[in-house]
Amino acid sequence: MKFEDLNLKDEILLAVKELGYEQTMPIQEKAIPFMLNEENDLVALAQTGTGKTAAFGLPVLNMIDVGERFTQALVLSPTRELCIQIANDLKSYSKNISDMHIVPVYGGEEIRIQLRQLDKTPHIIVATPGRLIDLLRRSKVFLDAVRFVVLDEADEMLNMGFKDDVEQILGSTPESRRTMLFSATMPKEISEIANNYMKNRREITIGHRNSGAENVEHIYYIAQAKHRYLVLKRIVDLNPDIYGIVFCRTRQETKDVAEKLMQDGYNADALHGDLSQAQRDTVMQKFRIRNVQLLVATDVAARGLDVNDLTHVINYNLPDDTEVYTHRSGRTGRANKKGISVSIIHSKEKHKIREIERMLKKEFTQQQIPNGLEVCKTQLFHLIERMQHVEINEERILPYLGQINKQLDYLSKEELMKRFVSLEFNRFLDYYKNAEDLNIRGKDVSDRQNRKKGGEKIRWKMNVGNREGLTPRRFLGIINDVTNDKSINIGNIEITNKFTFFDVYRDQVDQLVHAFDRHKIYTVAEAKGSKSVKNDREPQRSARNNKYRGNEARKNESLWRKKGREKRKRKEQHK
Ligand code: AMP
Repeated sequence: MKFEDLNLKDEILLAVKELGYEQTMPIQEKAIPFMLNEENDLVALAQTGTGKTAAFGLPVLNMIDVGERFTQALVLSPTRELCIQIANDLKSYSKNISDMHIVPVYGGEEIRIQLRQLDKTPHIIVATPGRLIDLLRRSKVFLDAVRFVVLDEADEMLNMGFKDDVEQILGSTPESRRTMLFSATMPKEISEIANNYMKNRREITIGHRNSGAENVEHIYYIAQAKHRYLVLKRIVDLNPDIYGIVFCRTRQETKDVAEKLMQDGYNADALHGDLSQAQRDTVMQKFRIRNVQLLVATDVAARGLDVNDLTHVINYNLPDDTEVYTHRSGRTGRANKKGISVSIIHSKEKHKIREIERMLKKEFTQQQIPNGLEVCKTQLFHLIERMQHVEINEERILPYLGQINKQLDYLSKEELMKRFVSLEFNRFLDYYKNAEDLNIRGKDVSDRQNRKKGGEKIRWKMNVGNREGLTPRRFLGIINDVTNDKSINIGNIEITNKFTFFDVYRDQVDQLVHAFDRHKIYTVAEAKGSKSVKNDREPQRSARNNKYRGNEARKNESLWRKKGREKRKRKEQHK
């Protein structure tokens, strides 16, 4: 729909045009005609970034009578940043209406300055609840003739503990007012406010109720708690162009993670409640202009931050409240861009993921934590791409090219490539050289639990014995070498002349057999029917366990049997 079809004043249409808005956004198409042509209240479920400021701002501005010098509209916002932004948007929408007076009032700034602006009664006040209550108490603001009240990001306001303030403010405005409530989610408390303070309301939903933004992909990694930070680094390293917020639970965790990232050479900073307002402003500004690539923040501190083109939101920990997840992930995937919300979770938290999936009606994908090789490959090709697209300042480098050419003359193209890659890339290669696999294998976990519980043991044998001078120690050395895995538990070793018998847990048999199959020097086989079998449950297992034997081992066992038969035959023939 075009703005011209909305019956807005020419001054407003002109401003909108100057801002480059051509078509209405869905929420504007629904809310603006409703506000202009009907009498009822409005509840709009919409995420930030959907164009809601214009959706309420344009009709309200259209209905303000500039000739009447009293406060006609009040907009409540949860944070000072949003408050300033709304006031600025309203000012730009009304810049062609002479005499329109709009004043933002918010905490964190000296009240004196705001009092001065309130001397000339504003037509519209945009306020955070706490500061407005203060001004009402001082009788510096009068709401008794207000015609329109907008509650923006109502769920955030309640999350921040402003419920009583909001109710008190609504109680200070006339019953005849029209109320518009905007919220990304619809928890019980919002319905209560709507039921208690709104009349014959119309409800509109942009996108799905309680849904995350459409363009957000949700993924999660399962990791041990002690590996959380390492996983974060791998995620960041796998996405060299990342521009995102890392959400932590506490101020301390926020500080720790940000500090570690900075020490490790990442372009990161922290945003939390222990910073002064001025420090917070500086950090936010650095992040907005992308001087900082990764912002580590608590939910509360990040509230005021409105940045539209985040590539990633990282949940360093899952929030307890599923609605907090909606807010976090809704910060990416805005303005039709793709966004990714990543969560690092513990295996016990899978049910939380299911809960959020149900609420968002979206499926989450579990991904494997990238290994060192994958990270290095990504980084390398990112580097190559950067080189391909780097801007070349011919003029500046021209004076040096001759000498450089002479100096590098002896190097072939291949040598040059190698050296260039090594120069930039050695740090990563070194760091990831011995990087361990951080994934928790579902099977491993159950295996470990199984072993703790004392899972079933099976008697096996290896084709080396006393004859070759084998000792239990050397035998364990062979097992370790062949399997390359010290977690395989071997017990009850018995060495006879030709064979070594040992117990192994049933769930580790596969691992053992594969390793020996690959190795091919020694062979192992189940010691079925052997006298030395000491396993208490042997009779039940005998047939079934054949499947655990590796091909090579099976082949060898039948070979031994064949050889035995031949030997016996020879002996008999000699007799
Ligand atoms: P909001 O949800 O009000 O924060 O708006 C999100 C962004 O969309 C802001 O940068 C607005 O300036 C912009 N915007 C709002 N309405 C339109 C429109 N009809 N066409 C283009 N951009 C818009």
